[in-house]
Amino acid sequence: MTAPLIVAPAGAPLIVAIDGPAAAGKGTLARRLAARLGLPYLDTGLLYRAVGRLVLDRAADPQDPAAAEAAALALAPADLDRPDLRTPEAAMAASAVAAVPAVRAALLAFQRSFGQARGAVLDGRDIGTVVFPQARVKLFVTASPAARARRRWLELQAAGSTVPLAQVEAETRQRDAQDAARATAPMKPAPDAVLLDTTALDADQAFAAALAHLDTRLGEIPAPAP
Ligand code: C5P
Repeated sequence: MTAPLIVAPAGAPLIVAIDGPAAAGKGTLARRLAARLGLPYLDTGLLYRAVGRLVLDRAADPQDPAAAEAAALALAPADLDRPDLRTPEAAMAASAVAAVPAVRAALLAFQRSFGQARGAVLDGRDIGTVVFPQARVKLFVTASPAARARRRWLELQAAGSTVPLAQVEAETRQRDAQDAARATAPMKPAPDAVLLDTTALDADQAFAAALAHLDTRLGEIPAPAP
């Protein structure tokens, strides 16, 4: 067991920005990096999922900018604990509300203050480009669309869902296309992000590759304890 450690030098808290398309392995990787570095972790996708859910609760259209903004402004901490945020329906609603500039603006301050408090690992779509463009470490995690859809389908199956693989793949592609094409904060690698393709990597290999990058970037990560 490796003791948590904080590698930020005196002054700036360490921000690790992890962006990439759906089901590329960002969450697993970000959570493990946060534990390894002793930093808080924020899954920013959950914020958008919770806003999307609130819009659906109100029987409104997630593509309606006014409804999406009203939900973002009404978001409360307990909304992030809802058990129904991981469903395909919530994911599609999230992607729709995420294209609304006022929604993104409403969520920005929370994300920034979360990270500025004592550093953090955050994963999402625009962490390295918009939320923390000055982040010292930026990874853009990706994998082939087929590999990502399969991973998400296996997760859904484990949670009891019977949604077919083809549907998961179609929705994943649609969501990625929407997220990359929107005008405000589109999903794209920051110019100084390192690309990590996890198509042929398992979670341990992706973690090792990310740690190797942090080591190079920061020069401060000691070898894990035996
Ligand atoms: O990461 P996750 O798949 O849970 O994100 C759900 C949706 O939230 C994404 O498809 C994207 O539209 C939106 N999102 C975003 N910016 C972020 C995180 C998520 O636009 N930083």
